[in-house]
Amino acid sequence: MFWTGDLIARNAPVRRRAGPSEAPHIARGVAAYLGLAIGDALGATVEFLTPNEIRHQIGLHSEITGGGWLRLKAGKVTDDTTMSLALGESIIARGCVDALAAAEAFDAWMRAKPVDIGNTVRRNLIAFRTTGKPEAPASEHDAGNGAAMRVLPVALACYGQPENSVISANRAQAHVTHNSALSDAACETLILMVQDFLAGKDPVLVERERAQKLVSEFPVFAYDKRRRENPSGYVVDTMQAVFQSFFATETFEDCLIDVVNRGGDADTTGAIAGMLAGAYYGLDSIPKRWLKAIDENIATQCPAQARALLALPRHP
Ligand code: MN
Ligand code: MN
Repeated sequence: MFWTGDLIARNAPVRRRAGPSEAPHIARGVAAYLGLAIGDALGATVEFLTPNEIRHQIGLHSEITGGGWLRLKAGKVTDDTTMSLALGESIIARGCVDALAAAEAFDAWMRAKPVDIGNTVRRNLIAFRTTGKPEAPASEHDAGNGAAMRVLPVALACYGQPENSVISANRAQAHVTHNSALSDAACETLILMVQDFLAGKDPVLVERERAQKLVSEFPVFAYDKRRRENPSGYVVDTMQAVFQSFFATETFEDCLIDVVNRGGDADTTGAIAGMLAGAYYGLDSIPKRWLKAIDENIATQCPAQARALLALPRHP
């Protein structure tokens, strides 16, 4: 749909393009959310395949075709996108990130029988049902990527806020299922990177100030050595694959194709890389064939939620 002016846009905000009146950070936030969904849908086809299996079965995987072990219809997304949307809704309803509201939103999401769910997410949401406590016990074993894959609503809701309040907002949602130092470090790095790109920062600076800072604090995240293929759900594998793809490519499309063809937890690396690439390269960089392929509901909800989160009152 083309941008046809305010009057029509007000009646039909669906799939509205960034108009001349939309601030750049809002357009980038919308692109980040669509990028998350596109990476999820693209990667789901090859989740748990090795790069070799992808080469033999598909060649270069570059189209949103559905299928995969979840037997998805083309354009359908998985938990990475739907947990983000559930979290975002809870943030909008409360006006801020709230641990109990997030836990209740995730619990309702789990009851609705999502197509996929991580083991750590399931275990700690079941514990929440018993204890009513929206914080999982700290565990270095809960260092999966399940909290990192759903950080985008926090980045948008807390855009422009001081770093310490961004960090505590994230921990409120992350610790519902993943109370681990490595998960926290990954989540916080991703959120601050998205916010940097919303503000128009240069990726060279962002790599130095965010990605390399993460590595200096937690050397296990070092991503400059061998190519990370077949990344598991361990948040360190995920971040290494995403950083390698994102910093070594120069377009949204190349970044996503590179990361999902590494196989492994490809819907999640795709979702996270898509979020960063959307935030940095912007809406116009997203291939139209991918935008068209995304499930209609998701293609409507993601931009609407991005705008609503960025419109929340800021709490300095
Ligand atoms: Mn998934
Ligand atoms: Mn996954």
